[in-house]
Amino acid sequence: MKAVIASSNAKKLKELQGLMSGFGWSLAAQSEFGLVTPEETGLTFVENALLKARYAAAETGLAAVADDSGLVVPALGGAPGLYSSRYAGEDGNDAKNNALLLKNLQGITDRSAYFISVVVLLRHANDPAPIVAEGRWHGHVADAPRGEHGFGYDPLFVVDDEGTRAAELSAEAKGAISHRGIAMASLRAQLQAAAH
Ligand code: IMP
Repeated sequence: MKAVIASSNAKKLKELQGLMSGFGWSLAAQSEFGLVTPEETGLTFVENALLKARYAAAETGLAAVADDSGLVVPALGGAPGLYSSRYAGEDGNDAKNNALLLKNLQGITDRSAYFISVVVLLRHANDPAPIVAEGRWHGHVADAPRGEHGFGYDPLFVVDDEGTRAAELSAEAKGAISHRGIAMASLRAQLQAAAH
């Protein structure tokens, strides 16, 4: 299968390419077709993932894979959630998002959080039965960033009892346990089941 990956986030794109490297597909980034992600107007992760994939499939005539993801902090009412990439505003960036998260968690003891990823595969733009897969990764938010790998909230996301941050994991180690890794494994299993 030849598929376009509908993401404009270079680091997320790299993760997705790595996670799909064993699929045996020919993968292209949407930027290779001059495409940028359309406005994410959905009110759920799955709506936004479908919107991104449908646009890329329509513009390229190829199958399309998209991930919509975010960090959910229950003590903050689920924020940053659906708005994780723009938590500190449309002109924000990872550092500003992390700083705002720390500010909003000041004085809050329940720092539990989870990442969620919803991955969809549309075989063509009008595919009425897309494959939809979800993964969640539970941890908590540290009080200071650490680590150089990954992207987004990874420097603040504590993954184990030793205080290891997601940003301290290699791409392979992260992919083996992350929300995106779990979603991709589910997508692959669903594809394999559909082939039999
Ligand atoms: P999306 O590209 O609209 O799905 O936005 C996803 C946002 O959620 C990213 O920009 C990050 O802020 C956050 N996020 C999603 N997955 C991860 C991850 O694996 N590590 C850190 N942050 C993530």
